[in-house]
Amino acid sequence: MKFSELGLSEDLLTAIEKHGYVEATPIQEQTIPLTLAGKDVIGQAQTGTGKTAAFGLPILEMIDTNSRDVQALIVSPTRELAIQTQEELFKLGRDKHVRVQAVFGGSDIRRQITNLNHGANIVVGTPGRLIDHINRGTIKLGNVKTLVLDEADEMLNMGFLEDIESILKAVPDKRQTLLFSATMPTAIKRIGVQFMTDPEHIQIAAKELTTDLVDQYYVRVRDNEKFDTLTRILDVQQPELAILFGRTKRRVDELTRGLELRGFKAAGIHGDLTQQKRSQVLKQFKAKEIEILVATDVAARGLDISGVTYVYNFDIPQDPESYVHRIGRTGRAGAHGNSVTFVTNAEMDYLKDIEKLTKKRMQPLKPPTREEAVAGRLSVASASVEAAVSAVDASLFAEAAEGLVEKYDAKTLAAALLSAVANVAEMDESFSLSHERPLPRKRSGFGGGRRDGGRQGGGNGRRGGYRGGDRRSGGDRSERGSRERRSYDRGSRTGSGDRSQRGQSGAPRRSSRDFVIRNND
Ligand code: ADP
Ligand code: MG
Repeated sequence: MKFSELGLSEDLLTAIEKHGYVEATPIQEQTIPLTLAGKDVIGQAQTGTGKTAAFGLPILEMIDTNSRDVQALIVSPTRELAIQTQEELFKLGRDKHVRVQAVFGGSDIRRQITNLNHGANIVVGTPGRLIDHINRGTIKLGNVKTLVLDEADEMLNMGFLEDIESILKAVPDKRQTLLFSATMPTAIKRIGVQFMTDPEHIQIAAKELTTDLVDQYYVRVRDNEKFDTLTRILDVQQPELAILFGRTKRRVDELTRGLELRGFKAAGIHGDLTQQKRSQVLKQFKAKEIEILVATDVAARGLDISGVTYVYNFDIPQDPESYVHRIGRTGRAGAHGNSVTFVTNAEMDYLKDIEKLTKKRMQPLKPPTREEAVAGRLSVASASVEAAVSAVDASLFAEAAEGLVEKYDAKTLAAALLSAVANVAEMDESFSLSHERPLPRKRSGFGGGRRDGGRQGGGNGRRGGYRGGDRRSGGDRSERGSRERRSYDRGSRTGSGDRSQRGQSGAPRRSSRDFVIRNND
């Protein structure tokens, strides 16, 4: 469907066209009219299908630019996502002259206050910093007409819920509330609905919860072989841009170190890093100076980075929903992607739970042999050598080269060159990861796997007991603890704003074989 059929005004339609969007995606088509009509909406659709514009466009439409009040507030789980959303709304709202500001931890609060004072029609913020501004009285939310929780299930989850409740107290009761996410577990939705008035739940139900654009593989490995298998797979697959997920912050740090040791350009991102470091890493990744971004779940939620062709789940996620979000970092806006999930024997039930949620089978992938990995390295090395041959100014090296040619035959020289470039020795750099506590074994049984984390989940099935029981006892194992959440949002205050522009892709629209389920709650 064309955007022009959705009731948006000329200013916005021009901006949409400039942005390279030709047709509305299904979630945009279904929710934009409802939002424009003032309804509360729960919008659920696969990752990478344009949910930002789905809530952003009608909000931009409804903004009265004659007023300097904050009329819409968008809450995001991370600073990076807040910036990304602010950038997209700024671009789409530029022709209408809508002021969009982002507020987040780790960046100078005084500058944010100045910006807010200059007038902000839309504020995108992370919970911690929003609460700071509310407490200081530097943000006035009394005229907010629309509140959005992006990545809503994450925002309504334990780590953020209290913050969200505080923010809700600062916005009028009479307002429009929008929740958007790719996943919306029933128990979490129940919490969200309490903050809403007669919401419409629009669910763009594809055949599966994950997109067909991502080829999903799993590889069965022993715990102590995971890292070697990983680097072999990387040598064979040679991804240009990949995201690797680890379960904990420590894991992310260690994986990064190990990958560097074996010659990969890797960098980590998680909540304990300074804002400055996180900005720097993302910028380098977007500029392809880093090949592998190693991340925790929370750090990578919602990120839209074009060109990511592989997602590796070094540790299988504990919640099937996390899997959906992780692999959703690839296969975005019509592009094709791949995912590889590592699974140990003890974790096979987690794999089954994921497949049950996504309604899609992952394909088994055989761990590559060392020979295959070497071959992978050599093919890349040959390509670099050929590139070097065509670029070299031979006259600069004439004397040294002649000396070598006199001593060795061409084949030997080429082999030596390949071996140096491929640096096969690097593959054997010994490296071992610290032991991570394994996921609690699942008791397979009826109802799709109850959690058996050494405690009774109150008799709840997975859905009913969502994020109860073992999650709470997960402690340092997962990044989901509220401590982490807060430190993520309120990290160090050193960072300078990373305003790097995302590539503006005129990516083709996703095919719309999806159908829509609508139900009133
Ligand atoms: P989601 O929040 O659903 O994961 P995003 O809002 O981050 O997805 O959008 C994913 C990508 O798709 C972005 O790069 C965005 O610019 C692009 N996009 C959004 N809407 C459209 C559209 N109608 N046509 C083409 N590309 C779009
Ligand atoms: Mg999003």
